[in-house]
Amino acid sequence: MPTRFENGIVVTLGKNNRVIWNGSVVTDGENIVAIGDAAEFKKRYPDAEAVDCAGKIVLPGFICAHHHFYSTMARGMAIPGEPASNFVEILERLWWKVDKAIEGEDITLSAQITLIECIRNGTTTIIDHHASPSMRDGSLDLIESAVREAGLRASLCYEVSDRNQPGGGIKENERFIKKVGQGDGQIAAMMGMHASFTLSDETIESCVGIARDAGVGCHIHVAEDAADRKDSLDKYGVPTVERLHRLNVTGEKSIFVHCVHVDESEMDTVAATRTIIVHNPESNMNNAVGVTKVLKMLQKGILVGLGSDGMSSDMLTQMRCAYLLHRLDNRDPRVAFMESPQLLLQNNADIVERQFGIRVGELAEGFPADMAILDYQPPTPLNENNFLGHLIFGLVDATVDTTVCRGQILMKNKQILSMDEERIAARSREFAPQVWKRLQSLA
Ligand SMILES: [Zn+2]
Repeated sequence: MPTRFENGIVVTLGKNNRVIWNGSVVTDGENIVAIGDAAEFKKRYPDAEAVDCAGKIVLPGFICAHHHFYSTMARGMAIPGEPASNFVEILERLWWKVDKAIEGEDITLSAQITLIECIRNGTTTIIDHHASPSMRDGSLDLIESAVREAGLRASLCYEVSDRNQPGGGIKENERFIKKVGQGDGQIAAMMGMHASFTLSDETIESCVGIARDAGVGCHIHVAEDAADRKDSLDKYGVPTVERLHRLNVTGEKSIFVHCVHVDESEMDTVAATRTIIVHNPESNMNNAVGVTKVLKMLQKGILVGLGSDGMSSDMLTQMRCAYLLHRLDNRDPRVAFMESPQLLLQNNADIVERQFGIRVGELAEGFPADMAILDYQPPTPLNENNFLGHLIFGLVDATVDTTVCRGQILMKNKQILSMDEERIAARSREFAPQVWKRLQSLA
């Protein structure tokens, strides 16, 4: 039966962004069938079930182009040893222990908690990067089940790295990529790889071969810290992007995450190969690794998207962080006003199209019914021309009231409907101390 999401301020986004006051979005099954005036649609679709949006803002669901579901249980944990003084120490002392310490239900719970937070923040499509070396086989199936139960969309991959075992994780990716194939619009697969400095040429060649045969892209951290660049220069005589390009990791479906420490000629290689870059400003600031030269990359025509790298599932705050960071970094208050929303609203949708083969990020007839409905009473006129001002300075702090994905209402009146939030959080609190204990025992 069709549903009328009515009486909202509908912001369609897309190339011809429209703001429709007293608007209505009519959905049927997984897709949008019509967008227009609420009063008119009441007459035209009298039998549709009505959901009153009561003046709230109706936006397309947000996209996170790089996330780590597995990072959940690190929250609030005491990190053993001296505080990490650089990026490699952060990996060695924190993340390479967290991933080793999780297994079985920890993997499911970590994903479920993040998925709940995605629903709470109106994030309906996620591109995830998973690691659990103590339980690689089948780990992506556990996450897939959690995503399907939540009702969201996700691209999944396992992080291949030689750091625990040469080629560790290749089999899990290969198995999952075969299982998912070209995907069903809800679940997609990529070839996950950690980073150049933990991967041999042989391992990368195996990964690329599997990805090419299956027609999927590679999802890899690139030059996040200067150490990754130095490692590539020292061992292979070329910077990170050039090494990966020589090994055929580049390509229009591949995602190079971060690219903080890349030079202009590397950017040219990324542009020429149509490789995707995903920027994670909060994470880069948290790890104190540097600032990705996003504005220059955009000028070169690179498709740069926005991720959270496990920091958060709130994509509006990531967008605002990018806005602030690049103004400060460029010492120029004229920049990033258009570009930061572009990363989130347009470029992430382009990235999803390359990975899932479907177009999201726009409210229009025939598009998937993925929506974030936010509590926001505009204090000044709101229209197509000043929407970005409301987005950056108002909507960023608004609460998401209702989240819809694939036509299904996953949260309504701030109540999560697709998952038992209380039970999952309680179970996660029960399991986390065991993860922390295992982690403390890892030398
Ligand atoms: Zn990451």
